Amino acid sequence: MVLLDGARLSKEIKEQIRHEAAQLKERRGITPTLSVILVGDDPASHTYVKMKERACKEVGFHSIVHTMPADITQNDIEETITSMNQDPNVDGILVQLPLPPHIDTTRILELIDPAKDVDGFHPYNFGRLVQGLETFAPCTPLGVMELLRAYGIDPKGLDACVVGASNIVGKPMAALLLNAFASVDVCHIYTKDLQSHTKRADLLVVGVGKPKLIGPEMVKEGAIVIDIGINRLPDGRLVGDVDFEGVSQKASYITPVPGGVGPMTIAMLLTNTIKAARKRRG
Ligand code: NAD
Repeated sequence: MVLLDGARLSKEIKEQIRHEAAQLKERRGITPTLSVILVGDDPASHTYVKMKERACKEVGFHSIVHTMPADITQNDIEETITSMNQDPNVDGILVQLPLPPHIDTTRILELIDPAKDVDGFHPYNFGRLVQGLETFAPCTPLGVMELLRAYGIDPKGLDACVVGASNIVGKPMAALLLNAFASVDVCHIYTKDLQSHTKRADLLVVGVGKPKLIGPEMVKEGAIVIDIGINRLPDGRLVGDVDFEGVSQKASYITPVPGGVGPMTIAMLLTNTIKAARKRRG
């Protein structure tokens, strides 16, 4: 069994981006800039934004965080996004999700300039992704593809199963795998017999948010297993959706949690941001 080490790979990617950012600065005077909207006091959201800020700093990007109270109005967020869209110095815009229930998240995401949509959540970019066109793909599934590529795993012709079908994880994951010519089976909460799907998969990707949803009995011998889930147990430990101990006995490759897909997500945010800076500024 080979551990797919996202922590190590993300460090290498960050080092490469740091080098590219230094060149952009030296040759063109450009500092890639990420502008973030953070609403409310959700501790996990604050932690994620801090990690993103720290990563920007590590590679020499500029990051601006607009922290807003939980009772902020739709209009106020929309005005902030409009000004970010118009600001020539802002390359990437990220709205940390989830937003409070009184906010229309779809309208917010649709307002972001697709050229600055480094999270890849705008329907324009998502549509291009489904059509296999050049786009900003969402960072988590993009990180999974990069991890596979780095370990020489080609999805072409594999039977892939994606468990979880959200707009930010499962659906773009399925689209990226399909674009890479895997045969893709997508499962969700209403899937009748989950095991009958997961058990057939050469490549199993799980992004649900339920600890130990996938046990060894649900996995094909020799499968490649990617665990996107992040769950905090009552004792404070961080675990994925896959029973790592049991499944790692059967898998040929597997991601750990933490240290697998999580760090790749941040590395892909940096990748998308420098790509946006290059494209938009010519
Ligand atoms: P979500 O709640 O929006 O979607 C969950 C999906 O899982 C839904 O499609 C739902 O139908 C499906 N589902 C729920 N219970 C199921 C079950 N018993 N069997 C099969 N499918 C089931 O969540 P999300 O935003 O897509 O996130 C999913 C997980 O990925 C969470 O643990 C989240 O923390 C994690 N995540 C990790 C990263 C990362 O960087 N590693 C990034 C984003 C999300």
